[in-house]
Amino acid sequence: MDISVKAPAKINLTLDVLHKRDDGYHELEMVMTTIDLADRIDLTEKREGIGLESTSGFVPFDSRNLAYRAAALIKERFNIKKGVHIKINKEIPVAAGLAGGSSDAAATLKGLNRMWDLGLTVEELAELGLKLGSDVPFCVYGGTAIARGRGEKLTPLPSPPPCWVVLVKPPHGISTAEVFNAFRLDQVTSRPQLNNMQEALEKRDFSGICQELSNVLESVTLKQYPKVRHLKERMKAFGAPGVLMSGSGPTVFGLVEHENTAKRVMNGLRGFCRQVYTVRMLGGLEEPSLD
Ligand code: ATP
Repeated sequence: MDISVKAPAKINLTLDVLHKRDDGYHELEMVMTTIDLADRIDLTEKREGIGLESTSGFVPFDSRNLAYRAAALIKERFNIKKGVHIKINKEIPVAAGLAGGSSDAAATLKGLNRMWDLGLTVEELAELGLKLGSDVPFCVYGGTAIARGRGEKLTPLPSPPPCWVVLVKPPHGISTAEVFNAFRLDQVTSRPQLNNMQEALEKRDFSGICQELSNVLESVTLKQYPKVRHLKERMKAFGAPGVLMSGSGPTVFGLVEHENTAKRVMNGLRGFCRQVYTVRMLGGLEEPSLD
């Protein structure tokens, strides 16, 4: 049986680092939401082994690939002798702060659950996903949620109201690990107010959501890459009321209520960067990625 699964990207509406833990991970508190920018994972059953291909040359083509690792984990855990060929149709920019790799892994877990009739619940898939990466559990659920711990402790939130998301991805990628290594809590000047963001989401208050966007990792990335700061300023100047860097960057996104404004922002940014996208917010869909 062949299966195709959508693997949507996420953006962070807030990202806070509470402290560094004894196990080396940072204790995080974030609000994440799914957007309609997605890879598509095509799974084809084969006699044995795991095959991998991708439409993008920027992803690893071996066991470092998170979709490959997801398949290997399932095969080992459930002693599956059959194999699978994985094709990653890449639309999400790589190393961009949009959790593309994590979403590919989550989609592969979901697809193989169906292909091999494993009967795993979403909770069980999320638990398996955490073995592959901190953002994978969120990508298994999709929607909008507060993510705590390494990112795996999830509390669902109401969806943002319908709006447009304009994304701009500078040419370089960023290593999340390096950003966290350089992060210093005492250099942060403003922190997200989680209660305020939660209230704005509950009230479906678009302006409130825009006002509460906040990401402490900007204190590292904006300093190291002045271009990211410049893109934020341009996006605001072109009329996006809410602008933030997603994850560890370098992607900057703007939230816009009306399609015409989104087009204006997107066209304005095209003069500065090649990779500019306009997509819809998907945060309200509980299962955006099943088919
Ligand atoms: P992070 O989860 O680290 O914040 P990100 O969203 O910034 O990730 P990804 O596109 O997931 O960025 O890529 C992070 C790294 O994961 C890349 O350096 C890439 O080599 C590796 N990677 C492994 N598998 C994949 C995949 N299927 N798609 C994209 N990147 C992958």
